[in-house]
Amino acid sequence: MEIVPNSNNSSTDRTNKNLTRRDFVKKAGASAVVFAIEPMLSGEEAETIKMNEATAEEIRKCKKIIENEQYGEILKNPCLVSALYYSKHAIEKMAPPHKNDPEQIIWSIYPLVTKKFRENYINTLEKITLDNNSEQKNLTTQSLPLDTITFDKNLKRNHLDAIDLFTEEGSPIYSMSGGIVVLAENGWKRGDAESTSSEHGGNTVIIFNPNDNSFYRYAHMQETGVSTEAVLISGEKIGKVGHTGLNASKPGHGGHLHLEINKYDKKDGEMMALDVFALKRKIEALEKTQ
Ligand SMILES: [Zn+2]
Repeated sequence: MEIVPNSNNSSTDRTNKNLTRRDFVKKAGASAVVFAIEPMLSGEEAETIKMNEATAEEIRKCKKIIENEQYGEILKNPCLVSALYYSKHAIEKMAPPHKNDPEQIIWSIYPLVTKKFRENYINTLEKITLDNNSEQKNLTTQSLPLDTITFDKNLKRNHLDAIDLFTEEGSPIYSMSGGIVVLAENGWKRGDAESTSSEHGGNTVIIFNPNDNSFYRYAHMQETGVSTEAVLISGEKIGKVGHTGLNASKPGHGGHLHLEINKYDKKDGEMMALDVFALKRKIEALEKTQ
């Protein structure tokens, strides 16, 4: 296994490393190419799907990282980070026809991720967290993501595996857990599928907590205030509440934090999403400790 942690990135340097997909994809004009993706989801035959050259190139790049086991390269590729984050159930919901380029990329590279690759990725994250935690911060505590918590009255209306927490636009968002930032994107723009790796999530942060093997995903931010590979403790500010993302940016949606927690199941090597009620219970339990 190749591990190439970026050890010269101190936890205080969080200003210049916010990633956008634009950093990695050179626009290739409107030229559509036919690109054979294989293997697709288990048991299926190789499919031929139309996509633009930039998307095809991004898939090839991620495929190479997986095949060559370049674990040190993963965090530079937001779509690959996302493919390693989502549960199988969430990926199935991204099946064609794809609404945007990032979904097409994530859906295409997910089947290439083996259990071994995911396990080594988790091990690598644990190692980088340790290496980058030179201040020996205590990463075991947990806290609320917002100063004021307001649950949606009809919890299951929007999400099964996520929760929406409504609050004032611009309110600070805090990391619920200690851990390492694996994705931090700014610059989401409506109608620009390349602005971030999630056209729906908008400006998004994902933090991995090695203590509970969980990934915490915060979406629709006005702006994110951390950078990848930064090591945080719970309660540190990671951004502001906003309404970026395809649906959240529509009129009437209101400022809210979209929160997901996906746990890596060591036993079967899969990602398991906490359901909306488990998320609510977790937040209520944290409220009692405040
Ligand atoms: Zn949501």
